[in-house]
Parts: sequence; C-alpha cells; structure tokens
Amino acid sequence: MKLNTSYDMPQLGIGTYMLMNHTAERAVYEALKDGYRLIDTARIYGNERGVGKAIHKAIQEGIVRREDLFVTTKMWTSDYGHAERAVDASLKRLGLTYIDLMILHHSQPRNDIEAYQAMEKAAEDGKLRSIGLSNYYSVSDFERLIRQTTIHPAVLQNELHPFYQDPAFVQYVQSTGTVMEAWFPLGGRGDHRKLMEHPVIKNIAGAHHASSAQVILAWHLQKGFVAVPGSSNRKHIAENIGAFQIHLSDEEMNQINRLDTGRRFASY
Ligand code: NAD
Repeated sequence: MKLNTSYDMPQLGIGTYMLMNHTAERAVYEALKDGYRLIDTARIYGNERGVGKAIHKAIQEGIVRREDLFVTTKMWTSDYGHAERAVDASLKRLGLTYIDLMILHHSQPRNDIEAYQAMEKAAEDGKLRSIGLSNYYSVSDFERLIRQTTIHPAVLQNELHPFYQDPAFVQYVQSTGTVMEAWFPLGGRGDHRKLMEHPVIKNIAGAHHASSAQVILAWHLQKGFVAVPGSSNRKHIAENIGAFQIHLSDEEMNQINRLDTGRRFASY
C-alpha cells in the first residue's frame, strides 16, 4: 500500500500481541524467512527487544535488508505525557535507527494531541518515517485529532474482520487518504474459531482448496486493508502469507461482506 508519506507498506504482516520476547523473536524470524516484511509490535506487548533481535539476526544472515522491512510499533497511553522519550525508548529496544510507522495505541483526549505532536517532531527528525493512530472509532474523534495536528495520519489500525466491518467509518477514513489496517483480522485469540468455522467462510475455503484463515485474509487484502494476523505457530505463519495466492470473486466478497454484525469482539 502506498502511504501518504510516499512510503510503501506491505499489506500483510505478522502480529505479535501476547507473544513474550523469546516467542516473538522466534515467530518474527520464521515470518521473515517465509517472506513477511511487515512486523507489528507495541511497547505494551513487552516484546520490542525480541522483535529487534529477530530483525538483526535475519539481517545478519542475509535473509532481509533493513530497507526492505516495515516495522510498526505503538506508543502506550501512559507514555503520552513524555512521548519524545517514548519514541527514543522504542528505537532503543528495537535496536533501530528509524521506525517505519509509529502509532498512538489508543485515543485519549486528555493528551493524545501532545503525543501525536511529539511523533510529528520525531518524523521531522527522521526517527519515524510515518505516523498514525489506533483505536479511533468515530469521525468526531478522528477529526478532533487531525484538526489540531499537521501530518495527516498515514494509517489507522482498528479492530476489523468480517464480523466487524464498520463500513461507513472505514470509507470515510480511506477517503481522507489514511490506510486502514486490521487488528484481530482473524477475529482474535478468543473468537477466531467462530469466524473460521462460519459456513460461508468454510464453503469459500473449500471451493479454493484453501484454509479459512487464508480466505479471511484474502478478503482483507481485496478490501484494501493492511492485516497483521498474530501467530507463533510455524505452520500458521507460513499458511497465512498464502492468502496472496487466493482471489475471491465479487460474489464471494459480497457473501463475506454480509457477515458484518456491527459488533466488536474486544471491549477496548
Ligand atoms: P488475530 O485475529 O490475528 O487472531 C489470532 C488467533 O488466530 C490466534 O489464536 C492464532 O493462534 C490464530 N491463528 C493465526 N493464524 C491461524 C491459522 N492460519 N489457522 C488457525 N488459527 C490461526 O488476533 P491478534 O493476534 O490478537 O491480532 C493481530 C495483531 O494485531 C496482534 O498480534 C497485534 O500485533 C495487533 N493488535 C493490535 C491491537 C491494537 O489495539 N492496536 C489490538 C490487538 C491486536
């Protein structure tokens, strides 16, 4: 995906939520070997060091070059009051000289503008290539932030999957030039089976000799979303990037579009 900063962002990546440092290191290293180039971490996941180690190992072994990678991390809400330091601390933990995308982890009207402005400054200083947001779910909240800041968010990362599609808001955000990125693309740890075992998904998967996960991810790709499915399972990591091989017909896309319940799984 071309971002408004003119940098390219890979459309499918590996998510690392709930992975401890050593598990994240192994999962990210496997993913890089499988061809993934987008990695999603966050300060609050406590695994930026493990992610950084995997990146450096893969670079040292000649599997990837830094310039081919797209590393996303997120600033946690309790760091918004000292955001400049938070940027430097993430860079240090990751062992990187720049981060491809840093996003505010959650809307927090009390001081998110201040934190975003610190990210703008870090972008000017070359520490961050693109900046964006996560967990802004209304036009008014999104506009509250963009009205008071200068750099338009390159990406908005929200909960998005076939059971929660938020079409009007997504269309609005995309119309402003911000790329939508899906977290919980497969429905999340607790609920992914409900989605994967839905008869519509299973039937389409059968027709394509593909897995349910691949069909759901192909749907995200064709919607123009970036998606970061989380996994530490080697087989699943390899399987998920196979979503690029699947092309869903308009009718199949519409069948999945009709699964929207309008309800999120997560409460945050
Ligand atoms: P997900 O929707 O990616 O689902 C992960 C679950 O699906 C796990 O239980 C995993 O074992 C399973 N899974 C993965 N691939 C599979 C496959 N091929 N077959 C069967 N099961 C499979 O949920 P997630 O990992 O929580 O979210 C994705 C990523 O989004 C996270 O890792 C994190 O990086 C990011 N995230 C961001 C926020 C935010 O607030 N911005 C919140 C949650 C997650």
